[in-house]
This record gives sequence, structure tokens and C-alpha cells, in this order.
Amino acid sequence: MGARINQDEFLKRAKQRFGDQYTYEGMIWRSYKSPVKIRCTHHPVQDINITPEKHLQTLGGCRHCLRARRVASLERELNRKSAERPTAKQVSKTSSKTVAKKALVDPSRSRSSSL
Ligand SMILES: [Zn+2]
Repeated sequence: MGARINQDEFLKRAKQRFGDQYTYEGMIWRSYKSPVKIRCTHHPVQDINITPEKHLQTLGGCRHCLRARRVASLERELNRKSAERPTAKQVSKTSSKTVAKKALVDPSRSRSSSL
């Protein structure tokens, strides 16, 4: 808990966790719990403002990576489900009788027949 993590330790852990996914060149270290600016090498469009603590606890803080990760896992999920699901052996011919009963709304019929 009270393990004080300095910049070197942080960089070491971050490299272990993320490899070369993030760059820490522009990082101005203050403390483990003070936000720093890092950058995702896959999405260098904007800096990521995150505390070193959060960076190590989460997927790093890149929203784009997070989304990509979500999509990937979602696709895995879908692939697994479609694999489990037996491919439709019999496609029952549902002759779709499109009974085109057009609801004729005749304006002339809407006359109030008052005798
Ligand atoms: Zn990213």
C-alpha cells in the first residue's frame, strides 16, 4: 500500500504492462498520484492526462485503445456465439405473402350522414 513509486519504478512497471504502447517523453513527474501527460503511440492524436497510479491500474487511459479493446472482445464474443449456434440446417420457406391491403382512406367517406 504505502509503496512509494517514483518515476523510475513507474516507467519500469508501465513498460512491463504496456510495452511500447505509451510514450512518457512529455511526462512531468510530480508524484504517483499527480496527473501526468502521456501519449498513446497508436493514437498520438492527443495527450492522455492521467495519474501514474491510474495508468497502471487501468488499460492505460487511451480511450481509443479502450474502445478497440471493447470491440475486439465483443467480436470474440460474437464469434464464439455464432460458433456455438448451429448453422441453420433448414431454412423453412416462409412464403411471405405480402397481403397488400392498402388501407384506403377515402376522404369522401368521412361524411357525416345526418338525416
Ligand atoms: Zn490508443
